[in-house]
Amino acid sequence: MPLNAPDQPVSRHVSQQRLQARLDTLARFGATAKGGVDRQALSREDALAQAQMVRWGHELGLKASRDPAGNLFLRFEGLDDGLPPVLSGSHLDSQPTGGRFDGVFGVVAALEAVQAMAEAGHRPVRAIEVVAWMNEEGSRFAPGMMGSAAFSGARELDEFLPVRDGAGIRVDEALAATRSGLDELLAPEGLSPVVLRPLGGPVAAYVEAHIEQGPVLERVGLSVGIVSGIQGKHTWRIEVLGEAAHAGTSTRAERKDALMAALAMVQAMAQVFHDEDDVTKFTVGRFEVEPNAPSVVASRAVFSIDLRHPDTDRLNAMSQQVQRLCTEHRGPCEVVVQRLSAADSLSFSADMRQLAQDCAQAQDIATLELPSAAGHDARYLNPLAPSAMLFVPCHLGITHNEAEYASPHDLWLGTRVLADMLQALTTASSPESVT
Ligand SMILES: [Zn+2]
Repeated sequence: MPLNAPDQPVSRHVSQQRLQARLDTLARFGATAKGGVDRQALSREDALAQAQMVRWGHELGLKASRDPAGNLFLRFEGLDDGLPPVLSGSHLDSQPTGGRFDGVFGVVAALEAVQAMAEAGHRPVRAIEVVAWMNEEGSRFAPGMMGSAAFSGARELDEFLPVRDGAGIRVDEALAATRSGLDELLAPEGLSPVVLRPLGGPVAAYVEAHIEQGPVLERVGLSVGIVSGIQGKHTWRIEVLGEAAHAGTSTRAERKDALMAALAMVQAMAQVFHDEDDVTKFTVGRFEVEPNAPSVVASRAVFSIDLRHPDTDRLNAMSQQVQRLCTEHRGPCEVVVQRLSAADSLSFSADMRQLAQDCAQAQDIATLELPSAAGHDARYLNPLAPSAMLFVPCHLGITHNEAEYASPHDLWLGTRVLADMLQALTTASSPESVT
């Protein structure tokens, strides 16, 4: 049974000005010279942004809590405490040269939706929790989406804790530093420490608003997109072990050049995964060489692989070739192929997509259904509860870039649709009927 768009929509209380002011405030934490953001997961800047969210939540009477995975929740109490909550949010962390909207928009939009609800006097039957998932980007600590993966039970938190960043800091150390950093920021303001809650728990539904990170909506001139699903993504860490040698004296036959072997692997994969229709996405975004000295043969090379395709079977078929291609092209070196993550393509709930469409239509907002080429935390929430994603246009599709831009009007309209969806999902009799 599909849900209905609300009769007395709370969306009329969604404030474009407040939304924009909050985005501007959060953009200061980790602001870069070129107008972007460098706010990597569990960094000082991340803690500052989280503290700001807690502050705003406190003003609205929302209860702040965090789980052992470092996910932050702001709870808007419902009439029945026993019912599973509806979750809405995204992430606060960014790429090193990230934009002001990726992730942070979904968190701020969820808060704005809750505030609109409070102002409209809508009492939800079940709680709504605004959530900021830990380490969506996977830039400082790989893989990404650690927080939502651990929350959903798709991955064990223990797997992530020993992961180190480039400076050798472990995830568990960074989690502890962020927790105490957050408490130190809040204590002088008389705000109580953020309560620790258990990992996971039942969820009634999940809605995530996000910038599109592609050019489609802008091209067709629409402000809101309803996401049909997310394309599959597999990631690897490849380590090639050779031997350091003198660049002038060592013969070709003697050399175990880790860099040359790694390049041969990358080139072989780029060739095999090349498709005419440009659907397969093959990326080697990280490459490290040791000792990284001009006159020394490389003894070690480590690189990443990010492989995506919307067709799960095609993705799995390509995925199976990674080990073989790396082994075939290792030359005299050794290679260790480690798959870090493997996520299939997914489709979001038809009822949730319909609800998004109805809520938009009731406000005369035209929408388009489109797939997401990028991964999002909603991927891990989808098996747990009926989930949906809303997209707003992202200028020229530029993202993971300091020039990332989304217009205040589009962000406002996306938040309006989100607010009415959350209202519909927390009105009597919902959302047991959602599938
Ligand atoms: Zn994002």
